[in-house]
Amino acid sequence: MIKPASRINTIELSQIRKMFEITNPNAINLGIGEPDFNVPKNIKDAMKKSIDDNDTHYTPNKGYIELREEIVKKFKKDNGIKTNPDNIIVTVGASEALYMCAQAFIETNDEVILPNPSFLSYEACINMAGGTIIPVDCKMENEFKLKAEDVQEKISSKTKAIILNSPSNPTGAVMEKEDIKAIADLSQDHNFLIISDEIYEKIIYDKKHYSPAKYSDNVITLNGFSKTYAMTGLRIGYLTANETYTEELLKIHQYNIACASTTSQRGAYEALTGPQNEVEKMIKEFRKRRDLIVKRLNEMNYETVNAEGAFYVFPKITDEDFVMKAAKAGVITVPGQAFGSNGKNHVRMSYANSYENIEKAMNILEERVVNG
Ligand code: PMP
Repeated sequence: MIKPASRINTIELSQIRKMFEITNPNAINLGIGEPDFNVPKNIKDAMKKSIDDNDTHYTPNKGYIELREEIVKKFKKDNGIKTNPDNIIVTVGASEALYMCAQAFIETNDEVILPNPSFLSYEACINMAGGTIIPVDCKMENEFKLKAEDVQEKISSKTKAIILNSPSNPTGAVMEKEDIKAIADLSQDHNFLIISDEIYEKIIYDKKHYSPAKYSDNVITLNGFSKTYAMTGLRIGYLTANETYTEELLKIHQYNIACASTTSQRGAYEALTGPQNEVEKMIKEFRKRRDLIVKRLNEMNYETVNAEGAFYVFPKITDEDFVMKAAKAGVITVPGQAFGSNGKNHVRMSYANSYENIEKAMNILEERVVNG
């Protein structure tokens, strides 16, 4: 047997995926992290056409210029970020963008401040790059919103970066503008990088999304098409940063990926330039489901924050066997602890499932888990 590299010694495969593999296929899945909607027709048509037109060759490493120009317009319109096509890299999902950030900027002895709980890949990417994680608690009393004063306490001379994710996976929390701005100021004062994962920015109710890159030059902004346009399997995302950071990031992308899929890039171009009514419909539907799941969980006395974004709720559930009991009864959920120690006594439930299924799932929990 050949020994694997020590940099992956401590990396574990995702517990969430493992759990899906062992559970009953007829169970209602509230564990999933992707929209249950299909890719809008105009996007599918654009991709089909690009294949028929033999538009299937390599693109520039950073992506098609037309697509990068549209991404520049999107950043200006939605995020108030001034950038240009040279400072955009089209990636294989936000996942690749995240990996690029870690590989390009994090090394041994670097500290990376990480919200606890947070998306599983952050920890793995930091570990693979050799960095040290400095967790900062997202407290239920603050509706799981990351607060600038809590971040400030964690800053040291070794702080290299912080990862922000608003709206958040797994809590659905949307950060306040003043915290985003204060952390952006800290990044300038203490010279560290903000890796801002904004993949859920459009899945947001009532609140407005703010990008730290509007307030600081030390920011790499990550985004993608997986959530907003239900394009998870098409693996397409993007990032922007200043010119110096972009050139460093390109080294990882160029020698690892060359370029994102041409077909998916064509779909992404159509997603940005075509009608947005499917997105609006999807968000409206997510809001209805959020209202339902929060109401039902609270009625079962599981304290649940009325999450303002993404498609997750993170109720407080202290029964350690809840996830197993729910799975046996036919509802798949994810233990909060999978997302960090602060997720203990919580369960992540995704409402990227139909209204009817969420209703059924809540009935099952009520009858067979709470009162069972
Ligand atoms: N960031 C977060 C917070 C996510 O939840 C996910 C997907 N689960 C990703 C990034 C990765 O998305 P993509 O499909 O664009 O790689």
